[in-house]
Amino acid sequence: MRLELSRRVAGLNHRYRSHDPAALVAATLNDPDTGRVALVSSFGAESVVLLHMVATRAPETPVLFVDTLMLFEETLAYQREVAETLGLKDLRVIRASEADLAAQDPENKLHKTDTDACCALRKTAPLEAALAEFDGWMTGRKRYQGQTRADIDHFEVETPTRMKINPLAHWGRTEIADYMDRYDLPRHPLVARGYPSIGCAPCTSPVAAGEDPRAGRWRGQEKTECGIHFVNGRIVRPGSLEAEKSEKVA
Ligand code: SF4
Repeated sequence: MRLELSRRVAGLNHRYRSHDPAALVAATLNDPDTGRVALVSSFGAESVVLLHMVATRAPETPVLFVDTLMLFEETLAYQREVAETLGLKDLRVIRASEADLAAQDPENKLHKTDTDACCALRKTAPLEAALAEFDGWMTGRKRYQGQTRADIDHFEVETPTRMKINPLAHWGRTEIADYMDRYDLPRHPLVARGYPSIGCAPCTSPVAAGEDPRAGRWRGQEKTECGIHFVNGRIVRPGSLEAEKSEKVA
């Protein structure tokens, strides 16, 4: 009989505490304590690092890409290029249903009035549905990316039945850049044009020298995360008490 999730997560954090990210990815994908795992990728500025680690060890791993239908054309082209270059064998493009889009955002303007609702419709709800068949998912989140990520662990309890795995949690910009150079990985074309963090086109702007890399995301709003956290299977908004608690669960 399997240990409860929180004990498995604690054990995984202990077991892999000294592994570098690539070794952690390889071990994790074969560890019965993680179960069925997918990689969720935005194919953004730094995504290719984790995609490469997974593709070179287990290219059949399901890779979920959420197409909000609001992405830059450059991101869509880059997604196709990276999938081809790395030989991803199970890429799944996730979108909101046409019925939900017609009911909740028929004119594609929801992002102008309610970004949380737009993210929930176009990103979080379809992703949650796609993740239903998995016991855990890998993300490229890193501690250096901001306050809400400052204490993330390699393994976290996300819901009572699902874990989140962050192999790059302890890496900084230098390690990411070095890895891309070492393997000569394709770069997202918008990075060279001033976008160090890339989300949907209406909600992402270029960043000036000296600004926080994520300053161009929802510029002028308090919102800092594109997703909405899940706590015990329920959707909660970023910044809420439950969302803060979820960041601390591990
Ligand atoms: S980032 Fe902007 S356009 Fe994309 S889903 Fe969120 S609110 Fe909508």
